[in-house]
Amino acid sequence: MDFDFTPEQQAFIAEVEAFLDENDDPEVFDVTRENMAQICDTPKRRAFMKKVAEKGWLGITWPKKYGGQEGSGIYEYLLNEALARRGGPQIGKGVGIIGKTIIAHGPENLRQEFLPLILNAEVEFAVGYSEPNAGSDAASMKLRAERAERDGQTGWLLNGQKTWTTSAHFADWYWLGARTDPNDKHRGITLMLVPLNQEGITIRPIWTMGDERTNEVFIDNVFVPDSYVVGEVNKGFQYISEALDLERFTMFAFSPIKQRLDLLTDYVSTTTRDGVPLKEDPVIRSKMAQLHTQAEVARVLGLRFVHESVKGEEATRAGNRVPPPTVPASEYKLYATEFSRRLADASMDIAGPGSQLRVRTKDAPMEGRAESTYRYTVIDTIGGGASEIQKNIIARRGLGLPKNF
Ligand SMILES: Cc1cc2nc3c(=O)[nH]c(=O)nc-3n(C[C@H](O)[C@H](O)[C@H](O)COP(=O)(O)OP(=O)(O)OC[C@H]3O[C@@H](n4cnc5c(N)ncnc54)[C@H](O)[C@@H]3O)c2cc1C
Repeated sequence: MDFDFTPEQQAFIAEVEAFLDENDDPEVFDVTRENMAQICDTPKRRAFMKKVAEKGWLGITWPKKYGGQEGSGIYEYLLNEALARRGGPQIGKGVGIIGKTIIAHGPENLRQEFLPLILNAEVEFAVGYSEPNAGSDAASMKLRAERAERDGQTGWLLNGQKTWTTSAHFADWYWLGARTDPNDKHRGITLMLVPLNQEGITIRPIWTMGDERTNEVFIDNVFVPDSYVVGEVNKGFQYISEALDLERFTMFAFSPIKQRLDLLTDYVSTTTRDGVPLKEDPVIRSKMAQLHTQAEVARVLGLRFVHESVKGEEATRAGNRVPPPTVPASEYKLYATEFSRRLADASMDIAGPGSQLRVRTKDAPMEGRAESTYRYTVIDTIGGGASEIQKNIIARRGLGLPKNF
């Protein structure tokens, strides 16, 4: 089997890398933000994404009638990995989650309003599924939606609370799930788009152990017209499940993990402790060989997801809609994020006490990356669905084992 990229794909990688070199800016690219580097939370990062949009690189796989190129998802993957490797903002929620879901499920008015904004990098979204009592079991969400009328429009009146909403403090729109039927757990949730900057929405920070911000969001008497309901009423959980498959892949890029593995490899290759080069220590050599092998497994699991989604996209274009591949998404997310955590543990062990020095300490091993990634990588094993949930999905949907809860 040939795992190499084609000459066209390699030419695309070279074009993207040249573009990133031209636009290199430490205020835009910051690998020390780990996976949160993907968010577009400053004016400079937003301006950079506009340049990515001008290159025509957003919506590569989207249908032409919605401004896309009907290209292969492999190019989207290559672009995202290149952005992630440098700690840059990524195509993320707009193109990958909201855009693809609206294209698949409508309605047309939301396609007309939001797809051009996403393609031009003119809008940022926050995703609101989790609530204080609905995390892993997202279908338990309770944010109340009741039928209402305002200014002659019919719609839904929202009341309740969300939590862990990353990006809510700078995003323009809230992509949220609300309880429209209290009597049916899975078929009683509806997806809606809600402007974040309005009376009735209160956003409070939650600081994570990885130094990045997420939020709790309180919603009091916020009216959503029917025209801002995504797809069909009460079918939201089906759309959320599909969107989560996309999220598990798109928002957990592999290249930042590889970048840290290269950093550790370089450290081991160049450092001497007590007169003995680390590269001659048999325990460290064995550990490094293990880590490199596991990195290759993570990379190939990612490529397998891409391969499956490209097949699905082609079938969808031919009129036979295929949703994103659930089990490969969970396998990749589980393996890559757990590997990332093992790599952070190994970096602390190998670099010794100095690895506890804070990130950007010039004289610390690996300039302090070990310490910050040790804290940060735990978060990626939770966000997008915790590792145990990925294992449940693989066991039930991949292996056909019975439900255990
Ligand atoms: C930094 C960060 C950012 C996030 N951003 C967002 C966001 O933008 N939008 C959003 O909607 N959500 C977001 N989340 C929420 C995230 O998806 C949830 O935290 C996650 O789904 C887990 O929910 P919980 O924290 O309530 O934990 P719980 O569901 O209470 O789980 C606690 C523990 O129990 C385990 N567990 C739960 N159920 C089972 C089971 N059935 N079998 C075995 N083990 C189980 C879990 O794996 C976990 O270890 C974010 C979370 C974090 C940490």
